[in-house]
Amino acid sequence: MRILVVEDDPALRLGIRRALQAEGWQVDVVEDGEKALTATRVQTYDASVLDLGLPRLDGLSVLSTWRSQGQDLAVLVLTARDELEDRVNGLNLGADDYLGKPFEPQELVARLRALARRRMGQTTPALRLGPLTYTPSSRELLCDGQHVPLSAREAALIELLMASPEKAVTKSRIVASMSNWETEFSPNSVEIYVMRLRRKLAGCGIQIDTVRGVGYRLGLAPTHPEAQSP
Ligand code: CA
Repeated sequence: MRILVVEDDPALRLGIRRALQAEGWQVDVVEDGEKALTATRVQTYDASVLDLGLPRLDGLSVLSTWRSQGQDLAVLVLTARDELEDRVNGLNLGADDYLGKPFEPQELVARLRALARRRMGQTTPALRLGPLTYTPSSRELLCDGQHVPLSAREAALIELLMASPEKAVTKSRIVASMSNWETEFSPNSVEIYVMRLRRKLAGCGIQIDTVRGVGYRLGLAPTHPEAQSP
């Protein structure tokens, strides 16, 4: 899940970013409303944590602009005090949830998880390939019903590959999906994650082929009964 955090308080911004990154989510942060709109023009987000009191353009204006543009990211609004009016306005403008400051990071994470489940449940069903099932909302990978433990980045990679089974996914797309603004991800490290996934999927009748000059392709191993001969 890729999340845009819009918060002008530097300490809070850093704290939120750490808490969300610890969940394995891709997190970008901006400190004012105009930058928030710029960010959603160049990048697609699953969710935003949106402070209401922001310099340059306030949170409610950002939210109404997103909705009028048809941006359908989940929006969790942060309110500075127990501002009932702001909450009501926010929900009317299309916020999915709100959280009053101060809040515990665990509470924020739990709310975002719930939003993600709701949205993913609507839009992204489990991905399947032969014996493999991957559920994006819970980031759970099963091989013949057996849980396969994954790191956050391995999960991002398998999700991308399983979305296009038996098709080559370009290395640049993989790099883009595994990077965020703060930590660029090098093409060489893709190789490392692919190798780890290969090891984890080895007994599962699934293989990840290197498509020379292009990227990688996830498919059934030739030995798998459902594999089609080329
Ligand atoms: Ca603020």
